[in-house]
Amino acid sequence: MRTEIVERPPILRSINPATGEILGEFKNMGEEEVKEAVKKAKKAQKDWGKIPIKERGRWILKLKEHIRKNIEDIADVISKEKGVSRFEALISDVFPILDLADFYAKNTEKILKREKVKIGVWNILGRESYIEYFPYGVIGIISPWNFPFSIPMGQIIIALMAGNTCVLKPSEFTPKTGILIKELFKDTGFPEGVCEVVTGDGLTGSYLVKSGVDKIFFTGSTQTGKIIMKTAAEHLVPVVMELGGKDPMIVFDDVDIDITTDAAIFGAFFNTGQVCASVERLYVHKKIYEEFKRAVIEKTKKLRVGFSSSEPWGYEIGSVISEKQLMKIKEHIEDAKEKGAEVIGGEIENLFVKPAVILNVDHSFKVVREETFGPVLPIMPFETEDEAIELANDSEYGLTASVWTKDIKRAKRVAEKLQYATVMINDNLITHAIPQVPWGGVKNSGIGRTHGKEGLLEMVQVRHVHTNKLGQKMRAPWWYPFSKEKYEFALSLTNLLHSPSMKEKIQAFLGIAKNFSKISKQKLNE
Ligand code: NAD
Repeated sequence: MRTEIVERPPILRSINPATGEILGEFKNMGEEEVKEAVKKAKKAQKDWGKIPIKERGRWILKLKEHIRKNIEDIADVISKEKGVSRFEALISDVFPILDLADFYAKNTEKILKREKVKIGVWNILGRESYIEYFPYGVIGIISPWNFPFSIPMGQIIIALMAGNTCVLKPSEFTPKTGILIKELFKDTGFPEGVCEVVTGDGLTGSYLVKSGVDKIFFTGSTQTGKIIMKTAAEHLVPVVMELGGKDPMIVFDDVDIDITTDAAIFGAFFNTGQVCASVERLYVHKKIYEEFKRAVIEKTKKLRVGFSSSEPWGYEIGSVISEKQLMKIKEHIEDAKEKGAEVIGGEIENLFVKPAVILNVDHSFKVVREETFGPVLPIMPFETEDEAIELANDSEYGLTASVWTKDIKRAKRVAEKLQYATVMINDNLITHAIPQVPWGGVKNSGIGRTHGKEGLLEMVQVRHVHTNKLGQKMRAPWWYPFSKEKYEFALSLTNLLHSPSMKEKIQAFLGIAKNFSKISKQKLNE
């Protein structure tokens, strides 16, 4: 066999997957360009980090207003780059950022304020401690294509509010949205270098991990996350990992079937099923299973598949992003068919997939075990609460789960037993859009958090400042030179602080009093 030398393409071509329209060409950046961007961000951070949080908040609110004024144009770029409706792009990718900007602009100062720490006996010994937060420096953000605006923009805003600057590497499928983010900062008048964007493929991303950034926020597949963690480990770069999901929806027999079937369909097919928190497994109580599945199938058939940029609300289901994604969806549908499942829908035309409902499946099927990331919904019956919990937890993932019932007490009881980072009761998908609460995953769904107070704390380092108020007045009794009196003092102190017996405590106190004046005079140059 001949060796084939394949050159890395210098250009990324952004293409609307629904229409094939070329939307632009972007550099597939190399190591030097990535290093240059990080250098610029480092330089900018020196000044940005010194700006008071209130003023940073004013900048973010200015950005927010700029986004609001241009919301339709921004949503249009996203919609075309993803091949989904502008309505979908607007509500899921742009709208939540306005609330997020507001929250962090107004609350960062409070969350990051200096905090006194009670240090027990050390307070009595004349000491005090507080913790304060300081920025990492430059945050590297590596993003997926499925929400190319809301995911990186949210992380950028939080990073900036904490005093960092950023370098974003958008997905190779959505470089235009990445560059748009950079332009929004520029047009708002932010200082240069505060938000740098490097376009390129996975290799560009790997350059960013080892470019000298101070922390990596990665959102993408579990497989890529593991590769990034290896590279990050070599450079001791801390990481936050927002990874894949296989999210279960548990439906008990007391639900409103009409409302809950609408929710199941939306949860499974929104963004053409390309959401990390998509409902990818639906468990329905046996009593209502037949009626529920009939309604899901009937309603799914009504969803319109297609793309229109002139009528933003014209189609519920857009295209999938790429051939690779299509192959994965096909593989899961084929596997289900081969194993004897009933598949309703799932027909493929170009990059469009008719939403599919899959019945007669169990946990040996790929469509139940692996992340599909497409408009495919397997439905399974269950009989008892314990069985539903067991089935839901039987997954390598742990991003979100949802529980549907009118009995909120039962729902909370079930939530307590679900190994998921987010559990929604009578809702699904929504919580990434709620900036006040943490977002993240357990098991193979991730490490660390974005959003909420927890997400902000991921963007800062902790500094503990400890003051010995007697430090200029006396020596500590454990300093050199060591002596018999100091040894006895240590034993007495142990008993004074930790003996359960009052008698021993009193004896210890007397021992300390006896030795104290001697100890305080013992010093090295005597
Ligand atoms: P992906 O892992 O293929 O790519 C994500 C990003 O990583 C892209 O920018 C890519 O260029 C970059 N990348 C690839 N190889 C790299 C490497 N070796 N070093 C550095 N960067 C590299 O994921 P995707 O297909 O873009 O997105 C879909 C996945 O993302 C799904 O698994 C989905 O569940 C997950 N996701 C998770 C969340 C979450 O919040 N948990 C949100 C959205 C998407």
